[in-house]
Amino acid sequence: MTVVVTGAAGFIGGHVLDALLTRGDDVLAVDRRPLDPAATDRFPPGRSLRCLPADLAEIGPADPVVAALAEAEAVIALAGCGGVRDTRADIAWRRTRDNVESVRRTLQWVRPGVPVIVASSSSVYGGSRSGRASRESAAPVPRGGYAASKIAAEGLCREFRARGSSVTIVRPFTVAGERQRSDMALSRWIAAASAGLPLTVYGSLDRTRDVTDVREVARCLLALLDRDPATTVNIGTGQGHTLQALTAAVGRAVGAPVTVQLHPCHPDDVPDTLADTSRLERLVGFRPRTDLDQLLARQAAAQRAGAAPVQVSGSGSSVEHEPAGTAVA
Ligand code: NAD
Repeated sequence: MTVVVTGAAGFIGGHVLDALLTRGDDVLAVDRRPLDPAATDRFPPGRSLRCLPADLAEIGPADPVVAALAEAEAVIALAGCGGVRDTRADIAWRRTRDNVESVRRTLQWVRPGVPVIVASSSSVYGGSRSGRASRESAAPVPRGGYAASKIAAEGLCREFRARGSSVTIVRPFTVAGERQRSDMALSRWIAAASAGLPLTVYGSLDRTRDVTDVREVARCLLALLDRDPATTVNIGTGQGHTLQALTAAVGRAVGAPVTVQLHPCHPDDVPDTLADTSRLERLVGFRPRTDLDQLLARQAAAQRAGAAPVQVSGSGSSVEHEPAGTAVA
């Protein structure tokens, strides 16, 4: 199968390429930046991978990416601007072009009936309430510009679906693992702990996050691509970890005791996230599992190897639940 992956140079994109190439698919990787050598060095040799540099918010009929989308047998659209806490002056513009316009232009060229997966985010829920897991049928309660841009992208997906496109919307919860974005909390905490610095935690250590191993996310995306359910699906584990537990796990991963500095929460940070995984399990036949110690050991080793340059401090972090999320950090 020939699969176009957008946002292929990103954190989740690198793991998705690996999974697709491992199972023998032909892959067209689209991104406006080059693929990360730390990811490509690990790809199975001798497989069919072609890279098409493009800014998806600007593609037009003459662009080679348009021809690739029109011929694709499947598409995984991961291109986007993550980061709930991003405070750059032009962040509203970036979110509109990368999270909304890119999705519009991608969907526009894919043939009706071809399976497409579009990455939304658990941030559309605005957090889980009273310990209840967030279900896909719940009315969205987006907090902040990032979540609003994902809601807009979901609306576009539904419009295209009504016109015959086979679009599945996925809502990943906090994704972690090798090459996690450097603005995300676990990356930042690993960097801080490795440097003997305190971990910046927003709000309280009692807040919780549903954290999913990026390899499990890639496994879910491939299974959903094959199943082509054309619906909205959470990708999470159904298990919440307190920030206390996450910071302690970071300490074990770097082999050093950690100290924590508490800071006030960003208004767009939600207290808790938790995925209802029943729809995902029904569709793919398994529930993603996260072994926190093993996951953070892998991520810390990748960061030590220089796979991911990480900011230790500064604005715009998060633990993500996304991109940012919300989160921690
Ligand atoms: P990432 O920033 O590592 O990767 C995104 C990639 O998209 C980047 O390589 C970037 O260059 C590319 N991109 C952005 N706009 C583009 C454009 N206009 N044209 C071409 N390429 C463009 O992000 P990630 O963490 O891998 O997340 C992937 C997707 O999943 C994003 O849409 C994000 O919002 C969503 N998501 C991520 C998480 C998480 O925990 N990482 C959680 C929920 C949702």
